Amino acid sequence: MTAQKNAVFEPGSTIGIIGGGQLGRMSAMAAAKLGYRVHILNPASTSPAIEVAASATVGSYDDPAALEDFASRCDVVTFEFENISAEGLSLLAKHRPVRPAGEILRVSQDRILEKTRLTDAGIELAPWKAVSGPDDLKNLEGLGFPLILKTTRFGYDGKGQFRVESPEALSGLTDLPYPLVAEKMIDFQRELSVVVVRGLDGTVRCFDTVENRHRGGILDITLAPAPVMLDVAEEARIIATKIATELELVGIMGVEMFHAADGRLLVNEIAPRPHNSGHWTMDACLIDQFEMHIRAVAGLPLPPARRHSDAIMHNLVGPEDMARVPALLATDGASLHLYGKREARPGRKMGHVNTIFPRGALPGELAFEGLLPPR
Ligand code: ADP
Ligand code: MG
Repeated sequence: MTAQKNAVFEPGSTIGIIGGGQLGRMSAMAAAKLGYRVHILNPASTSPAIEVAASATVGSYDDPAALEDFASRCDVVTFEFENISAEGLSLLAKHRPVRPAGEILRVSQDRILEKTRLTDAGIELAPWKAVSGPDDLKNLEGLGFPLILKTTRFGYDGKGQFRVESPEALSGLTDLPYPLVAEKMIDFQRELSVVVVRGLDGTVRCFDTVENRHRGGILDITLAPAPVMLDVAEEARIIATKIATELELVGIMGVEMFHAADGRLLVNEIAPRPHNSGHWTMDACLIDQFEMHIRAVAGLPLPPARRHSDAIMHNLVGPEDMARVPALLATDGASLHLYGKREARPGRKMGHVNTIFPRGALPGELAFEGLLPPR
């Protein structure tokens, strides 16, 4: 039953968020700003999101009893975490509107489905092939080397990926975790992304195109706006708009792209939830990505995604970056966001810091490094 598919939920309603991590935490804070209550579903009784939400159901994402309890305590459901089973989401959808719809999550959860759907929509991707077993490895030479093998599901922060340099290295591979996708390694100038939001009435808003730089497979910094020509930034937003419209998104989505050496924009992946590359909006936009997300989920109007300042977002990862917190707290112009995680394990995202500049005042990219908070 999807009787309430087009329902608007006024402030005062309860928004259910599946997942208890930092994206849920920042979404819950944005929801509270607009007068909503937030109810979290999370397997553990404490988590970054639970600490700022009104209430929580503690239970597994796949436990029907936990899902029923969760649904009965909220008016509309969204998620901050992508690995919920399709069955779990369709169970929820029988009780409450789920925004974005479960179908979009199903597509983004599986790299083969994602690439097939995007290709069908006319979106350009890095050349790729599905690899369902060892026999398919023989058919990859046409892609060219180096290539990258990725698990089709549950990958994040570069986990589940293997770079293959040559045909010899490929033929030496054994015991791979099939199914996989093989992609040509793209020689890119930059990695770009766009956070796009689409409302119940089909209104689409895109935040500015940004550049993302990774360290050890984990997002390190985001530069907003991306230091690219205006036509490239605009093309990225057109691509994100096209994907959001084709998928009939209601909610928010991050679209990751490569700006290839030959100038083309190739989509890497989509994530139908607030995105790490949109954290800069918290200090450089009047309405940030989390409020846009909540507005879209509730069915409220979506204002233009305007940036009032230029920004650099820097992720704080693991114990090493957490050791910098006292210095960051004492740094003029650094806006610190911490996720309240108890233990700073290596590779764990603990928080981020935004540094903002008047629009147009961000110096050329070579000067960026000098502006980053001390490391
Ligand atoms: P995850 O789900 O872990 O974010 P991605 O597919 O986004 O997986 O890959 C993580 C990072 O690995 C990318 O941001 C990019 O830096 C690099 N990468 C992935 N695929 C390619 C590719 N085809 N060509 C070049 N770099 C790639
Ligand atoms: Mg990615």
